[in-house]
Amino acid sequence: MKKTFAIVTAFALAVLALSSCCIQQKSEEKAKYVFLFIGDGMGATHVAVTESYLSYKAGKLGGEQLLMSQFPCYGVASTYSADRNITDSSASGTAIACGEKANNGTVGINKDSVAIYSVADALHKEGYNVGIISTVPINHATPSAFYAHNVSRNNGYEISQDIPASGFEYFAGAGFLEYKGKEGNDEATDVLLENQGYAVGYGVEEFLSKSEGKEKAIFCQASNKEENADNYVSDGKEAEDISLAQMLELGMEFIGTDKPFFFMCEGGTIDWAAHDNRTMSMVTDVIDFDAAIKVAYDFYTQHPDETLIVVTADHETGGLTLGAGSSTVKWAKLENEWIESGKKNVLDSEQNREFNKSCSIGWTTGSHTGGHVPVYAIGKGAEKFIGRMDNTDIKGKILCE
Ligand SMILES: [Zn+2]
Repeated sequence: MKKTFAIVTAFALAVLALSSCCIQQKSEEKAKYVFLFIGDGMGATHVAVTESYLSYKAGKLGGEQLLMSQFPCYGVASTYSADRNITDSSASGTAIACGEKANNGTVGINKDSVAIYSVADALHKEGYNVGIISTVPINHATPSAFYAHNVSRNNGYEISQDIPASGFEYFAGAGFLEYKGKEGNDEATDVLLENQGYAVGYGVEEFLSKSEGKEKAIFCQASNKEENADNYVSDGKEAEDISLAQMLELGMEFIGTDKPFFFMCEGGTIDWAAHDNRTMSMVTDVIDFDAAIKVAYDFYTQHPDETLIVVTADHETGGLTLGAGSSTVKWAKLENEWIESGKKNVLDSEQNREFNKSCSIGWTTGSHTGGHVPVYAIGKGAEKFIGRMDNTDIKGKILCE
């Protein structure tokens, strides 16, 4: 017991020493290339359930790991918001991005309605190129917390118009909510953004031709051209749409590596699948999210001394349980139902919950929960993400403050 305590104390001192050295040296210690991945709604159990599925596919009961959970530094973050025990994505996105608690429903403002600025803004001011990427619309809650300031996450049209003030180089996502305003008769969002100096391309081909020679560009999925974005990557993915991994590759290609960069990549549909208690959709979304992390990881292996990768979630969604009622998960049954339904959800939420439970996967809610979320890190400064933290600590750890 004593020995364990001594080891823990020595370790804590080592971590303290590392962080104070970081404080002394300030910006010199920051990673040149930073990737922040946010799995929306991805609690630790979502990772465990996905790894259980991967193990089943490998003919095992467990032991298969996603790339993110193999990272050497692991911590957990609390997620409560300024006004609720249980956060929503706009408040937790703001807490992660801006390092300050916010009220549910708000983006980029604190509880006193004062605009607060994100880790992306701070790095951009220091000369980093910035890319903000999501599988869901670019003006959805989580991505908007990095560049917008609004009393309501539901003001999609106004949120899009905060993009030019950010000056960020690259945005990518499904497209835009409220593309032509709330009533549908305002100036189109992409026209407004093009007037402010952004090349906006739908689909890879159009993006490449329009962004060539430009400093700032926005990629939108081809299936949302000139309409409100509302696509669900795992279940409703259009053939021409690209993955989170591909959107990141496109952004890295566009931005280049001459200057330092910061990328935020959100796996937004993990949350949407979890709200609907769709186990297989959630699992495939987590696998897609991990594939995007692989793109960053491959870059890290080329630039190990200059790159930091941090992976976390904004909150847990669904109150997910691995092992509800039985100690054997019926993965074959879950997978068959999913394949037979054409990978679409044919059950209503009540039926879904019963079906999942019959396979030993439990969902206790169609909403968010207050469970801690995992934090995985690798690379320069990754040791700061070991242990217990609050989501508001993440910004400062990235900035070495
Ligand atoms: Zn949600």
